[in-house]
Amino acid sequence: MMEMWALPEIDLESCTRCGRCVTDCPENAVSLTEDGPIVVHPRACTYCGVCETVCPVGAISLFYTISWDGDAVASS
Ligand code: SF4
Ligand code: SF4
Repeated sequence: MMEMWALPEIDLESCTRCGRCVTDCPENAVSLTEDGPIVVHPRACTYCGVCETVCPVGAISLFYTISWDGDAVASS
């Protein structure tokens, strides 16, 4: 069954891999992978906006992104 969450969208093109969104997320929902920062725990994300605020290059936006099965994340 498909489930939907509101998640921050991360623009990996403008991301500098600084890691701020990973270290400052209060829910530890973001991890820095070899592809860049990914919301690896979508169920843990409270949509608080901290990651959007701390990103120095404005690469994170709190738009809606569709997820399913708790693992896969698709860009909107
Ligand atoms: S919106 Fe908040 S809880 Fe969700 S990934 Fe960003 S900092 Fe973490
Ligand atoms: S804070 Fe912004 S620039 Fe830094 S890793 Fe996260 S998305 Fe990339």
